[in-house]
Amino acid sequence: MKYVGAHVSAAGGVENVPERAHEIGATGFALFTKNQRQWEANPLTDESIDLFKKRCLEYEFSMDAIMPHDSYLINLGHPEKDKLKKSRDAFLDELQRCEQLGIRLLNFHPGSHLTKISEKECLKIIAESINEALSKTSFVKAVIENTAGQGSNMGYRFDHLAEMIDQVDQKERVGVCIDTAHAFAAGYDLSTEDGFEETFQQFEQIVGFDKLFAMHMNDSKKELGSKVDRHESLGDGLIGITPFKCIMEDRRFDDIPLILETPNMDRWAKEIELLRSFQKISK
Ligand SMILES: [Zn+2]
Ligand SMILES: [Zn+2]
Repeated sequence: MKYVGAHVSAAGGVENVPERAHEIGATGFALFTKNQRQWEANPLTDESIDLFKKRCLEYEFSMDAIMPHDSYLINLGHPEKDKLKKSRDAFLDELQRCEQLGIRLLNFHPGSHLTKISEKECLKIIAESINEALSKTSFVKAVIENTAGQGSNMGYRFDHLAEMIDQVDQKERVGVCIDTAHAFAAGYDLSTEDGFEETFQQFEQIVGFDKLFAMHMNDSKKELGSKVDRHESLGDGLIGITPFKCIMEDRRFDDIPLILETPNMDRWAKEIELLRSFQKISK
């Protein structure tokens, strides 16, 4: 089974998301469960939670196909104690919101060292943040996203992902989401079939496909190794369509959310259709 979808707007409430995803032909989706640019958020109301669950059933979305993204403000590797605490509190709130909604995955960027501590120290702090959050929740899984390596963001190498996972206690509750645009900008050349194979061979060795919980399906405006994070519509960027075809044909990417975060939402329905057209082996 391939779950294909996009990061859909939650304007007006999370209960509006399933219908928006359904309208573009998605079988999975991402969302923000609160405003991603603000620290504070009102708790989800019972009404909103009930409607969300009801509509997921109505539109036949599997809970395995839904993966919220956390707030961009959160830095789980923050070198300063008080700011780290603020991030950890906000992250816990994000995980709890997922559990209230019955959602099993939360996707987040690992964090930044802000040039104040070493990469190694930062990865350790992030792993501690994940441990703390998982110990206070019951079932939602922490899904670490690879980054483009912009600024002092960690997570741009597969070894970073492995190093964080290694230090997490509840191993079954931690995995990764690979964003194709981020990987490309970080120097992994996915643009050719050979490059794609080579990249995911490395991934298998370092992280492992059992830890692949999701993919973000984005083309890139910026060149290979640029370390700049700018998404582009599929086929319009410097990656091109090849890896997306490879992903859709490859069983190793079955049963996980495959989420578009491409900039032109008017094209999502077409992009989903295009991805579906590549699917030969499995439905
Ligand atoms: Zn992201
Ligand atoms: Zn992403």
